Parts: sequence; C-alpha cells; structure tokens
Amino acid sequence: MDRVVVSGARPTGSQHLGNYHGALKNWLALQGEARCFFFVADWHALTTDYAAPATIDANTVEMVLDWLAVGLDPERSTIFRQSAVKEHAELFLLLGMLTPVPWLERNPTYKEQREQLADRDLSTYGFLGYPVLQAADVLMYKAWAVPVGVDQAPHIELTREIARRFNAYYRPIFPEPQTLLTATPKILGTDGRKMSKSYDNAVYLADPAAQVERKLARMVTDPRRARRNDPGEPTDCPAYLSFHRLYCTPEELLRVEEGCRTAGIGCLECKQIMIRHVQAELEPIRARRATLEQADALAALEQGTERARTVAVRTMAEVRDALGVRT
Ligand code: SF4
Repeated sequence: MDRVVVSGARPTGSQHLGNYHGALKNWLALQGEARCFFFVADWHALTTDYAAPATIDANTVEMVLDWLAVGLDPERSTIFRQSAVKEHAELFLLLGMLTPVPWLERNPTYKEQREQLADRDLSTYGFLGYPVLQAADVLMYKAWAVPVGVDQAPHIELTREIARRFNAYYRPIFPEPQTLLTATPKILGTDGRKMSKSYDNAVYLADPAAQVERKLARMVTDPRRARRNDPGEPTDCPAYLSFHRLYCTPEELLRVEEGCRTAGIGCLECKQIMIRHVQAELEPIRARRATLEQADALAALEQGTERARTVAVRTMAEVRDALGVRT
C-alpha cells in the first residue's frame, strides 16, 4: 500500500453514470490497491467558473455524498477539499516560478477549452496556469500514479516535466508520477450527446428507480427504427453503444443485435434488457445514498483534510528546505 494515487474532480454536484463509469468505478478499484487521495478540485472550478462561484459549496457536498454512496470509504481513502489544504497554493506558486509559459501554451486542452467555453473570458492567468496547480496537487502527495482519461494524459506529462525540473534545480524530492490510463467507456446521455449535467441528458446515481426507467426508456436510438417494423443497426444506436455494450451479457448482446437488425425486437423491449442491469447496479448505491446526510460528507471531508494536510505540511517543509526559503 505504499503506492500513492492522487485524483481529483471538479465539484459538479450530483454524480451521473458518466462520472461513475469515467472515474468513480476506477477509484473504487484503486481504493483496495493503493494509498488514495481523492480531492474535490474546487480551486480548479474557479479557473473557468470564477465569475459564478455560488454553487461550488453545495456541489461539493452533493458530490462527496455520491462518492460515499458508491463505496468510497473515508477510512481507506483520503477524501478532501483542495482549498482546505492551503499548501497546494504555496506549491502552485513555487512550481509556477520554474514552469516555462510555452509549456502551458502548448497544452492541447488550453486551446480546445478556450474555444469550447467561448461564452466566458478564459484569457486569464489562472486558466493558463491550471496545469501547474494540477502538478502541485499531484506532487504534494508524491504520487506514484494518476488515473486519467486519455485527454488528460498531457497534463501528467507536464507534471513529470515540472517534477524533473524541480529535482534538477534543487534536489530530488518528487517522484515522477505515472499515467494510469483508464479505459473509460464513453457514456452518452439520453439525447445521444455526451452525458453531461449541462445538456440535461444525464441519469444520476441518486435518481429514483422510476426516473431511471423513464429516462432510459426515452433515450434516443438508431433513427432508422422510426417504426416498429423498420430494421436498425445497433452500432448506430446511442442506447446500445453506451448501455447494452457495457451492461449486457454476450448472449443478450447477440439477441439485441439480431433482433435490431431484423426488426424482431422493439426498441422499448430492447432497452428493458439493459435497464434491468443498470437498475441492479444502481440499487445498492441508491440505498446507501438514502442513509447519508450532509453531515456525513462534511465529516468525511474534515477527516480527509486532516490526513492530507499532515502529508502536505511535510512535503512543503522539504520543498522550502530545498529552495532555501525557510519560514
Ligand atoms: S432495437 Fe435496441 S439496439 Fe436497436 S435501435 Fe432499438 S434500442 Fe437500439
């Protein structure tokens, strides 16, 4: 258990199946294998949402409640709020001193996100520098690995470069973290676009069973199947691509594929096959979530913050010593 894993998520509030399959399930698996630090990246949220921060606090609590409901255990994983461990800000500042701006400008998500989020001004110092903050988040705990999707891999490479530069200038303090590429299935929302809170197309972990049923029964399918007798193609069906493929047994998949292509099965009947599996997976999460209250999330965060801070204070003492900046 000496291997340290660090991962964070912006406070997006209630978690949906996209969050679950994209990160939380993987975190759960890591919880038994490594010393895990999972944090609410509330300062990161400010890099894009600085003009409207009002929901960050409530979203933090909602998100952590869902983390607990899926089985993240505050006794085994250190669950904390980034902004509660101020050492992150100090390390961010110090690493910023040695990070060349071109390293940040070439970050592929920098340009991409600025284009995607064209409704806000992201020509800010904080937004350009957020990979340095990420590096501080990870290096603070001397992570062995960081689980990320493929789009985040360049950030870990940048973290390694920053660690290397620090170690070379001063003395070797930081291990270079590995990228733990996670095979994250792309979960589509009920309208066929990427599942996202902002598209209003998400199935939430805490949705009551009847609502899950309603949402998935309405989910878009292959448009060729406009009428019951029209054959379709499962690989053009968002419901199949996201849910059947993920949840159904090989036998069920055969039945679905053949039934779809021959119009032997209707879409509603076909969806019922996967809805049963989704409900079975969500049921224990819903049950646990129903027993949790805001105080449980706050207690988990408090406990985790204490533990995270103990490590962070130790790391920062080493960093200051290496730099010769003693306070
Ligand atoms: S039959 Fe099933 S796989 Fe085919 S379009 Fe309908 S829901 Fe999708």
